[in-house]
Amino acid sequence: MQDWNTRTKMVHAGTRRSQYGEVSEAIFLTQGFVYDTAEQAQDRFIQTGDDEFIYARYGNPTVRMFEERIAALEGAEDAFATASGMAAVSGALISMLKAGDHVVSSRALFGSCLYILEEILTRFGVEVTYVDGLDLDAWAAAIRPDTKAIFLEGISNPTLEVIDLRAVSELAHAVGALVLVDNVFATPIFQRSLDLGADVVIYSATKHIDGQGRVLGGVILGTKDFIRKTVEPYLKHTGGSMSPFSAWVLLKGMETLDLRCRAQAATALDVATALDGHPKLARVIYPGLESHPQHALAMTQMDCGGTMLSIDVSGGKEAAFSVLNALKICTISNNLGDAKSIVTHPATTTHQRLSEAQRETLGITPGMIRISCGLEDSRDLIADFIAALDTI
Ligand SMILES: *Cc1c(COP(=O)(O)O)cnc(C)c1O
Repeated sequence: MQDWNTRTKMVHAGTRRSQYGEVSEAIFLTQGFVYDTAEQAQDRFIQTGDDEFIYARYGNPTVRMFEERIAALEGAEDAFATASGMAAVSGALISMLKAGDHVVSSRALFGSCLYILEEILTRFGVEVTYVDGLDLDAWAAAIRPDTKAIFLEGISNPTLEVIDLRAVSELAHAVGALVLVDNVFATPIFQRSLDLGADVVIYSATKHIDGQGRVLGGVILGTKDFIRKTVEPYLKHTGGSMSPFSAWVLLKGMETLDLRCRAQAATALDVATALDGHPKLARVIYPGLESHPQHALAMTQMDCGGTMLSIDVSGGKEAAFSVLNALKICTISNNLGDAKSIVTHPATTTHQRLSEAQRETLGITPGMIRISCGLEDSRDLIADFIAALDTI
């Protein structure tokens, strides 16, 4: 399996067949497992083997298939699947940190990630320093000898700033801190975060990995030691484990993950190229465009510009709403990575909780629309945007 290429791994890695030899992965919708003898039960509680299970909160064959398949894709030693992306982010951080520890994080974060750092970790005595993710001097100044963890989103939401993962990892490793990357926007297809220096990679599987808006899921990837000794004890006892049904949906999602991500990224480039320079737009932000401030860096970290772009409509919120309401194909929602193209107005939805000053610092303007490109024909999407922009 090590030699297989990505698409082959996504169809076959981790497959476990029952005695019936089913073609499609089985859903083991069972909370628990029976033992042949009392002795076997005793033994399994002392040491649980790779193909042995006790209770679905601890592990389940369908969930294990998902973990092995995504670990094969990421090139990670091991993975722990969680009920949602946030269970993964909180599980990874809380399981490794204790009172008195210091964390450095980029400031531009998904709202719930910010909540974990700002409201929860600090309540338990963890100190968090925030930096502008693009400013390497700021990272260097914030990272201290006692820093335990670095947390960042490789590509920020919704402004699509690209952080230099190699450089930040070097600074972190010089003091022995672990680098945790929330890699949702870059996707496991386009960015090999572990090769770039990350120690732990986290996904909301709700996004591209499902890719069809059906279930919530998350995953933490890292060394066997980190996953089994630090993450697993925390998650199996606190209950953030993935359901077997969700694992099955996500296994099926992974079969087409590479195809979908590549098609969606090609569409994102088409749409960004077509809209770049449009007279009604102040800016088109897409890491795959040469006009993107970190375009060169993005192209060394990722295979392409990804599936997401943002546009800044001149005329602020009113103009942005006019575009959103006029779009016929793109749906207004807040998921991303879906087969359906989705548009989001961050200032009034996902980033509404922030103050106006905070939004301004992060570059989230009233005219900004985040676009997650789906699987539709890019020509139809471009026509949809051009017609909607004409309504301003
Ligand atoms: C969606 C998202 C999450 C949270 O994932 P859920 O599955 O919704 O819990 C975390 N980080 C990023 C960057 C996301 O886009």
